[in-house]
Amino acid sequence: MSGTYLGMPAFPAAAATSTRDTRLRANLRRATHTIRDKRATAVAELDDWPLLRAAGAAVKDRTLRHLDHYLEQAEAAVTAAGGRVHWAADAEEANRIVTELVRATGEREVVKVKSMATQEIGLNDALERAGIRAYETDLAELIVQLGDDLPSHILVPAIHRDRAEIRDIFAGAMADWGRPAPEGLTDDPRALAEAARLHLREKFLRARVGISGANFLVAETGTLVVVESEGNGRMCLTLPETLISVVGIEKVVPTWQDLEVYLQLLPRSSTAERMNPYTSTWTGTTDRDGPRSFHLVLLDNGRTDTLADTVGRQALRCIRCSACLNVCPVYERAGGHAYGSAYPGPIGAVLTPQLRGVQSDLDASLPYASTLCGACYDVCPVAIDIPEILVHLRERVVEGGPVTIRGTRTTIRPAKGHALERAALRTAGWTLDHPGVLRAAQRLGSRTRRFHPRRLPGPGRAWSDTRDLPTLPAESFRDWWRRTRESDHQEGKAP
Ligand code: SF4
Repeated sequence: MSGTYLGMPAFPAAAATSTRDTRLRANLRRATHTIRDKRATAVAELDDWPLLRAAGAAVKDRTLRHLDHYLEQAEAAVTAAGGRVHWAADAEEANRIVTELVRATGEREVVKVKSMATQEIGLNDALERAGIRAYETDLAELIVQLGDDLPSHILVPAIHRDRAEIRDIFAGAMADWGRPAPEGLTDDPRALAEAARLHLREKFLRARVGISGANFLVAETGTLVVVESEGNGRMCLTLPETLISVVGIEKVVPTWQDLEVYLQLLPRSSTAERMNPYTSTWTGTTDRDGPRSFHLVLLDNGRTDTLADTVGRQALRCIRCSACLNVCPVYERAGGHAYGSAYPGPIGAVLTPQLRGVQSDLDASLPYASTLCGACYDVCPVAIDIPEILVHLRERVVEGGPVTIRGTRTTIRPAKGHALERAALRTAGWTLDHPGVLRAAQRLGSRTRRFHPRRLPGPGRAWSDTRDLPTLPAESFRDWWRRTRESDHQEGKAP
């Protein structure tokens, strides 16, 4: 697999391939069921979870309503603490800024903390084109990188790999990237972790530039926060002389008191832990402690456009816990690569089409990558109503309509291939608006019900192959009402 999602097919085509991969399905099933069960136990320990969840949603909503204010406050605080803030409108600009910052140091290597934002903008490829090698240091990201693969899960990017595959990847590829895997490496988890530790240690000690994302940005002090389980993040954030953090503008929270809510919601929802093993915070630069130069790249890349949509903006509350992926029946079977984006699963199905638009076949297919069962909403720690956004985006795909692109209100055309669906919905809408026509259609349907096919012809065949078409009743509800209740009225029996 190449290191980019560009050119990937629409979700149904990609999922048709991945669902036939029995090893992938077994790996995903085992991993997602384990995490989801642990999460349920960790969440059940807190009596006030519903209140915490409501607080998490409310703080994010308030922050998003005043995002300009909090971002400016954060910029002033970061600058006052000795950091430098750069604003990036899109992926290209963010990649250019980071590349120039690394070049200015004279270095040709960087170490990276796992970061969804840098995955979203394809930073590693951009650095590679500029002759700079980026080393991923998170264990799962390392597996993905050494395997010339793509992440398939927000929290566990190599969730689709089992231990035997990881052993083969380490044994085959570590030598090309630095210290080779130990002789006779087995697939014992401790042996694999030790091999990764030895491989990464020389990179940590050599690196002079670190690149990170952040889970949160506290506006009142300009403090960035990364939570993690392995300690590799702490090494990247403290050892290099230059630290560059690429952070989506929606990551800002107003105060430390607000942060307290998310530091409870996030670990229980993601790793089923009461708190994260490592919580690193950094504010600008400090003499003789940590990086001597700090740059914060604030990334928009479609976020203000998303903010302009009153339904879809809920997706910007996301704290990337991945709980929705672990309960999603579609993700469990299709796997993360089928979503063609750094953001797979239910959150990817609503976030990616908003960040990238719905013009491509892939992006237009994502709002349909769901059964609308609602499990994602039930587990989301910030109460994002993902099913509501999915339906909202499906309407956009089918009908087109007004959206904001790069801050300008514009009207987009319906996606290709939905003409039949659009015609059917318009016909249904018109019929429901005309009671006489609706009544006639119901009667016709009832009287001809014996002749209705059990399977739909043409493009409807795939749909009806796996579903039973409903049998129409002999009499419509309207006719039944008229026949039974109207005569009651006339005889004075009914109120
Ligand atoms: S949408 Fe909710 S459940 Fe899914 S990753 Fe984001 S915060 Fe977690």
